[in-house]
Amino acid sequence: MEILVAGGAGYIGSHMVKMLVKAGHVVTVLDNLSTGHRSLAKYGELVEGDLADTALLDNLFAQHDFKCVVHFAAFSLVGESVTNPAKYYRNNVCNTLNLLDAMVKHDVLNIVFSSTAATYGNPVYTPMDEQHPQSPINPYGASKLMVETLLQVYAKAYGLNSVALRYFNACGADPELELGELHDPETHLIPLVLQAASGRRDSICIFGEDYPTEDGTCVRDYIHVLDLCFAHQLAMQAMLSGQLSGAHCFNLGNGEGFSVKQVIDAAQAMVAQEGFNIKVQQAERREGDPAVLVANADKAKQTLNWQPQYTDLTTILRHAWEWEKKQPGLVGRNFVY
Ligand code: UDP
Repeated sequence: MEILVAGGAGYIGSHMVKMLVKAGHVVTVLDNLSTGHRSLAKYGELVEGDLADTALLDNLFAQHDFKCVVHFAAFSLVGESVTNPAKYYRNNVCNTLNLLDAMVKHDVLNIVFSSTAATYGNPVYTPMDEQHPQSPINPYGASKLMVETLLQVYAKAYGLNSVALRYFNACGADPELELGELHDPETHLIPLVLQAASGRRDSICIFGEDYPTEDGTCVRDYIHVLDLCFAHQLAMQAMLSGQLSGAHCFNLGNGEGFSVKQVIDAAQAMVAQEGFNIKVQQAERREGDPAVLVANADKAKQTLNWQPQYTDLTTILRHAWEWEKKQPGLVGRNFVY
């Protein structure tokens, strides 16, 4: 089956493409390589292009017989979305509109959309289910919520089927080590912790130790990138089999929270076995960080029959660590000898 993966050269998209190709699908990757990497586009056929380019989209859909689109192409830095909201609304919303219009025009009526827990904003209760109010507190979350709204009205007006997957904290790497996280700048906790271990960074800063949590640091729901991708595959199958029609949304998380300190301690215990050490520093709270973000993902488990496989924090850290050790810049200055 032919599938288009927009943003397939990024972190999550590249794992998705590999999974789809291994399952026997013919995958076209559309990526402008603004945050994606040619080195991650190992599977599928890469078309270097932008969703702003409506002529390119028209040609692509005319030339292929796509049965489904999986859409990851978006900017995702919360801080940048506050200082440059135009960039976020233009790319994440306007360009997605181009994609949806091309789909409708060419009668490709199934899409899996990469949404986010950031559409909820500050938690009113936790764990959060899909009924939790959506009240984003930054333009990134707002831009993703706008697309969810578009998907709902496109379902009614044009018969577009969609599954919006609201990710909690994506992490981990391909256990075969072909793919992994390659963000620049890197802002996420787990890769930063591991870079502090490998020596690519001096230390990891804990952003705030005075939150109302057990150890004072923020609690998050870390979900392995492969588990996210399994859910996309199931969502796609549910639409193609006719089990799901119209617009749907699901949370994707483990349902278990780990604090920043717990993540650092688990990473420290793992890397210490290989003689590495992680230097930890205290820092001010980062603006916009809720104390606890944990998913209730029962709906995805029940409806999609999704069962996350890599729920163990050390397994997640192990995959990310093996990937980190493959990166250039591992100088070993943090060896404890
Ligand atoms: N965090 C931290 N130090 C860092 C990066 C992140 O203490 O250098 C904390 C951050 O404040 C949050 C958690 O780690 O509580 C996860 O942050 P991340 O940016 O990975 O994901 P987010 O939850 O913001 O999507």
